[in-house]
Amino acid sequence: MSLAIVNGRVIDPASGFSEPMDLLVKDGVIAKMGGKVKGTQTIDAQGCVVCPGLVDIHVHFREPGFESKETIASGSRAAARGGFTTVVTMANTRPVIDNAGMVEFIIRRARETACIKVRPAACATKGMEGAEITEMAELKEVGAVAVTDDGRDIASSAVMRRVLQYADMAGLTPMTHNEDETLAEGGAMNEGFTSTVLGIPGIPKAAEEIRIDRNVRLAEMTGTRLHVQHVTSAEGVDIVRRAKARGVRVTCETAPHYWMLTDDAVREFDTNAKMNPPLREQADVNAIIAGIKDGTIDCIATDHAPHTPTEKNVEFDLAPFGIIGLETALGLVITGLVEPGHITLERAIALMTAAPSAICNLGAGALREGGPADICIFDPAAAWTVRAEDFASLSRNSPFIGATLKGKVRYTLCDGRIVYHD
Ligand SMILES: [Zn+2]
Repeated sequence: MSLAIVNGRVIDPASGFSEPMDLLVKDGVIAKMGGKVKGTQTIDAQGCVVCPGLVDIHVHFREPGFESKETIASGSRAAARGGFTTVVTMANTRPVIDNAGMVEFIIRRARETACIKVRPAACATKGMEGAEITEMAELKEVGAVAVTDDGRDIASSAVMRRVLQYADMAGLTPMTHNEDETLAEGGAMNEGFTSTVLGIPGIPKAAEEIRIDRNVRLAEMTGTRLHVQHVTSAEGVDIVRRAKARGVRVTCETAPHYWMLTDDAVREFDTNAKMNPPLREQADVNAIIAGIKDGTIDCIATDHAPHTPTEKNVEFDLAPFGIIGLETALGLVITGLVEPGHITLERAIALMTAAPSAICNLGAGALREGGPADICIFDPAAAWTVRAEDFASLSRNSPFIGATLKGKVRYTLCDGRIVYHD
C-alpha cells in the first residue's frame, strides 16, 4: 500500500524546501519527494502546507499517577490532532521518572498505547528533590533524551553544576525549570499592577530571572550546554540573548500563551489563565516576540499541562498551575506570529520542527527520502473555533476555548499511518 500526497506546498526548513511538491509514502517512509507520484491512496493537499510532523519538547502526559488528567494514549491523540508526531514527556509523574526502570516503563507504555513518538525526559535529581543527581548514563542507555526536574526548581547551585556536567558526559540535554521557589512561594499570578488590583498573591519576574541567570552562569563556567524552559519575561529573554553573545551554549523555548496573553487574562479569575511561570505583562509579550524574531528564542514548546475540570473549578489561589496546549499551538503560532507579520511561515515551522528536534537530538522534524513519514498537513488559511468538546486531551483547561484561530491541521501521519484526520 502506498499513499500519494499531492498538490500541497512542501515546507521543510531542514532541507530549505518551500515549494509545490508531491510526496509518496510507502512502508512507513517517504519513498519519493518531487516529480510525478502515484499511490494506491491519495491525499489531495490543495491549499495546504505539507511539513514535517511537529515536535514538542515539553509536554506533561501524567502517566503514571494522574491518569484522570491525561494518559500517554490520550496525550498522544491530542498531539496528533495538533499536528505533532514527536513529543518529549516531562518526568514529574507519580512515581517520578528518576531511574532506568521508569524510563523503560514510559517507553513500553508509549509503544503499546501511543499513536505518535513519545521520548521521555528523566529527572535531573532523585525524587526531584534537588539533592542527589540521577544515574544519567543509565537513563541515556535505556532511551531518555533529556534530564529536567521541570515543575520544580533545583535550589542548590552546586547540584545544578553537577547536573550540567553529568548530563553533558551522558549526552543528555539538561533542561531547566527556572524558579526561585522562596521568592515565588504562595504566589498564584504575576506580581504587578493586576495582582495588586485583584488582591492575588504575586510571583515576581525576578523569581524566574534569578534562576535563568544562575543557570546560564553555571553553563558558562562548566562550558556545557543548557536548555532554558518556558522563558516568559523581557529580562529573561535578554539574559539568554547576552549569554549567547558571549558564546554560552544556551538554548531556550517559550510557549504560545506567553505571546498571546498577558496577566490581564486573570481579571475574570479564570483558572485557565493560571500557569507557572505565570502570564506576564505587555512589555514582556513584546520582548518574547522580539526574542522569537531575532533568534534568541530557539523553539516553541507547549508545556501541555492537563488538569481535570474538578481540579481547575476552584478558587483562583487554590487551582493547580498549567494549561493544555498541543491542540492549539499551531493555530496560535499562525494567528499570533505569522499573520501579524512577525515571522514567516517557514520560520514558524522551523521553530516547531527542526529546531526543537536538534535541542534534544531527536532525529525528527525533517522530510527526506528514506526517512520516516512523520508528516503534518495543514491549511494555513482555514479559520476554526476552539471548542472544549473537540479536544482529544482528557482535560479541558485551555484559556483559548471560544477563540477563533487561523491554521487548521488536516492530517497527521506518523510512520506513514494516518493518526489524525480532520
Ligand atoms: Zn516548568
